[in-house]
Amino acid sequence: MDKNFQEEFTQITKFEPPLYKQRHQFVRDLVEKCKPKKVADLGCADCSLLRMLKFCSCIEVLAGLDICANVMKEKMHTLSPLPVDYLQPSERSLTVTLHHGSVAHKDPCMLGFDLVTCIELIEHLEESELKKFPEVVFGFMAPSIVVISTPNSDFNPLLPRVMLYRHPDHKFEWNQAQFQSWALETARCYDYSVEFTGVGHPPTGMEKVGFCTQIGVFVRKYLQTGESLWPEKPTEAVYKTVFKAVYPSLKDEKYLQNAVISEVIFTAQIIKHRLMSKREEYGGDPERKSKFQPSMDCFSDYLGKLVVEKNMEPFVSGNEVYIPLATIFSFPKVNRLCGTFEKLCKLIAGKVTLSSDGSAVMFNIEHENEEN
Ligand code: SAH
Repeated sequence: MDKNFQEEFTQITKFEPPLYKQRHQFVRDLVEKCKPKKVADLGCADCSLLRMLKFCSCIEVLAGLDICANVMKEKMHTLSPLPVDYLQPSERSLTVTLHHGSVAHKDPCMLGFDLVTCIELIEHLEESELKKFPEVVFGFMAPSIVVISTPNSDFNPLLPRVMLYRHPDHKFEWNQAQFQSWALETARCYDYSVEFTGVGHPPTGMEKVGFCTQIGVFVRKYLQTGESLWPEKPTEAVYKTVFKAVYPSLKDEKYLQNAVISEVIFTAQIIKHRLMSKREEYGGDPERKSKFQPSMDCFSDYLGKLVVEKNMEPFVSGNEVYIPLATIFSFPKVNRLCGTFEKLCKLIAGKVTLSSDGSAVMFNIEHENEEN
């Protein structure tokens, strides 16, 4: 390498965004592409990658593992649900768990994952741990995809202030040939294919040094229905769970019921409000009833037709306004939340005031006027 060029370049080697963010973004992009449901991050350190992945809506199970409990505990509270998660529960379920343990040991809690990430982990492993690592990750956990990133020592001469390794805790740093040969052998042993890429581009003219961080993406060759393999792999639990958060989800009947009740009342209120405005417009003249009912402009054209065709119109009788449940059910959000009309009826039973035959939500106008 040209010494002058190298010296000049080491002064300016600063990645933007920073390299750790590029590594995490790489994983996020892969998650968005492959849509894994269960993701485990090995050597998760301060959980920053997990914090980012929690926002990927395809993920339902997130787990972190690190040999250092203190580094995980420092910021693990940031993985807890926020008040907004309770106010507006998500449609997906999400559980986040942190385990204290080593990637050199097998624990059944690491079975069944679709994606396992090992970002800047392997270079921290002692020789004996590195030997066991492939059997634990590829043999035992056997996820569909494994991502391994590690420093590329071919790039080191371009980095300022790197004498031997980039970090004092690194036990080794591999060049491209060393990493690729280890990765190809591991993939061959455990029936995976592997592709190499990286983040942190080398400067123009120096492409041979490769990416600053080298990444291997391993994809399992054979299909496997996760659970079918588990009974064959009995092991005792050796990891200690240090954190677990179950996010509120609409898959949980308790949160679904609250959401449906709120949405039903909200929808019924809107319909009632428009109905009453129309009534005022027509001076409450019962002769003209037929004119205002079908033309309820609060509905979309679609709903307008529905009202006429299926006789689902809201109506006033005495001091009561009746909003048919069938009309409320035809609103997309209510429909999506409940799935079936029967489910809607079941979820709101006893929680919303209904007409005596249970077919309509009922509001007392006088009572409401008094409240206003
Ligand atoms: N993955 C993190 C940083 C990794 S630093 C990121 O993307 O930013 C390496 C981490 O691996 C450290 O937190 C270290 O405690 C952990 N580690 C080292 N040896 C380990 C082992 N045998 N098992 C599990 N974690 C280990």
